[in-house]
Amino acid sequence: MTFLLLAILLYFLPSIVGHNKQNAAGIFVLNLLLGWTLIGWVAAMVWACSSDPRAPVLVVAGPGHYCTNCGTLSVAGAHYCTSCGRPV
Ligand SMILES: [Zn+2]
Repeated sequence: MTFLLLAILLYFLPSIVGHNKQNAAGIFVLNLLLGWTLIGWVAAMVWACSSDPRAPVLVVAGPGHYCTNCGTLSVAGAHYCTSCGRPV
């Protein structure tokens, strides 16, 4: 009984992780329909863990600045991101 409960919990883990996401319904449908395939489950889990596209980008003021492309903190005065090479 406990094992069955754990198995159900594990199966719906992507839905649980992504329940407060903007696309929680999509994650749940993918999880429900394709969760039994390992690829579908992993895809739902990745989707659940990915950040919401409309989430506000956190910009921290201080010496140096965060790259808007990859989020890496660049040193003050740098003109290009040290990680992705994008102009900052
Ligand atoms: Zn970058």
